[in-house]
Amino acid sequence: MTLSDSVRRPEAAVPVVSTSDVVVVGGGPAGVSAAVSAARNGVSATLVERYPYLGGLASGGMVLVLDDMHNDTEISVRGQAMEIVERMHAKGLCVYPPEADRDPAVRATEDMWRKWSRWGVFDFHTHTKPHPVIFAAAFDPEGFKQASLDMVREAGVNLRLHSWFQSTIVEDGRAAGVIVETKEGPQAIRGSVVIDATGDLDVAASASAPFAEGAYIVTTVSRIGGVDTDEAERFQYGEPERFAELDRQAKRIIGGCWQYWWLKTPLPGIVWCNCPHMVGFDGMKVGDLTGAEIEGRRRMKALLEFARENIPGFARAYFVDFAPQTGVRQTRLLDGDYVVTKRDVMDRVHFHDSVCRGRDYYTPYRAMLPKGVEQLLVAGRHYSATPQAQKLSREIPPCMAMGEAAGIAAAQALDSGVTVREVDVRAIQRQMRAQGADPGDRPAANALVAEAA
Ligand SMILES: Cc1cc2nc3c(=O)[nH]c(=O)nc-3n(C[C@H](O)[C@H](O)[C@H](O)COP(=O)(O)OP(=O)(O)OC[C@H]3O[C@@H](n4cnc5c(N)ncnc54)[C@H](O)[C@@H]3O)c2cc1C
Repeated sequence: MTLSDSVRRPEAAVPVVSTSDVVVVGGGPAGVSAAVSAARNGVSATLVERYPYLGGLASGGMVLVLDDMHNDTEISVRGQAMEIVERMHAKGLCVYPPEADRDPAVRATEDMWRKWSRWGVFDFHTHTKPHPVIFAAAFDPEGFKQASLDMVREAGVNLRLHSWFQSTIVEDGRAAGVIVETKEGPQAIRGSVVIDATGDLDVAASASAPFAEGAYIVTTVSRIGGVDTDEAERFQYGEPERFAELDRQAKRIIGGCWQYWWLKTPLPGIVWCNCPHMVGFDGMKVGDLTGAEIEGRRRMKALLEFARENIPGFARAYFVDFAPQTGVRQTRLLDGDYVVTKRDVMDRVHFHDSVCRGRDYYTPYRAMLPKGVEQLLVAGRHYSATPQAQKLSREIPPCMAMGEAAGIAAAQALDSGVTVREVDVRAIQRQMRAQGADPGDRPAANALVAEAA
């Protein structure tokens, strides 16, 4: 860019509109969890979000399934992630397989596959077919928004929606708050600890913390209504060869998707389409995000026309909505005090400072600590991991668990008068356990234990 291509912004004093112990930026799964956890641990917390609702990609991105919270033998992510599942379930906005259907004697049978596979609650990591049914929860996006808001309000978090993060306030090498853009102009929000839960590392990058540039498939998620799912499933199992051929044609139109291009939702007759998978779009660039919206809608419109004409159960189908947030899975990734690798995830490596876990992978506290800036924590899909490792460890429950641990860490640092880098990790682990979560510090029989400090 040359000088004539740019304009200068006038410098102006920015009013401080809020001061609290902890400032969490980003009201997605990790941010909600962090703010609630901090407030429940006795410190004042402010939560900043650009959109008018909470939930991030889980709600605005219309993600359907809370997964990666169950391994071969147990529910591995509990704590606040399980709390949100139960809150949505109580409202009738979340569906999960009961324990009887997850029993090892039946969970990998054809009957269970037929009953549960169109809910997306199966273990796609196994190579055996049918994939076994596991604990995972298919939920409604509006249910996630409501449950998040309830948790935030009940915990007494100071919520500031409609506020776009703009820059980090750094004083003497410490994060001391953030500046946001609003309809009222720029506003400053001060705090003694800042938690970056933007998913794109906006806060840490602005504070000059090092990061890696990641990228992955992008999706414009949509929901289709007016679907007779019983008829569609009768066709799938009654005429498998014709189904397979039509499914192949549908997938050619989509140009990239997982095994199933539609899944059931808690709302009858409405299905969820986690497709298309599109490559070559940068989730940090306005032009690419705009292009992805146009291309995704074009492909899905063509798919719906094909499905209405050809696929039993879809004759009267119509679009309910496209997700208000573009489905960006990976952008900037923190290059923190420890960088989690694909091998760490695959080999189920435990760390002495594991503070949370996903399916059967573990997050060291160091992977939430940026280099070169104090009093800043990072929680969520932009945590310190290689791009390959993040692809395997970015699901909603582990991101919530990371937020839960970050909220505890912030509160404990402030309580004991140390920086977040100096906080006693064993105390975070103890409190995670007290909150019903598994910090992942006790290795299972089949796990490797990292020796590195
Ligand atoms: C298409 C798609 C399908 C997926 N499917 C699944 C699935 O089936 N199951 C599963 O568990 N996971 C799934 N995931 C992954 C999962 O949704 C994300 O990894 C998870 O939501 C990450 O949570 P987060 O809180 O770290 O980030 P996000 O969900 O991205 O939340 C970040 C929050 O920060 C806010 N924010 C960002 N920038 C700013 C700013 N500048 N100012 C203010 N606020 C800001 C955002 O608005 C958002 O609320 C999917 C993801 C995608 C894209």
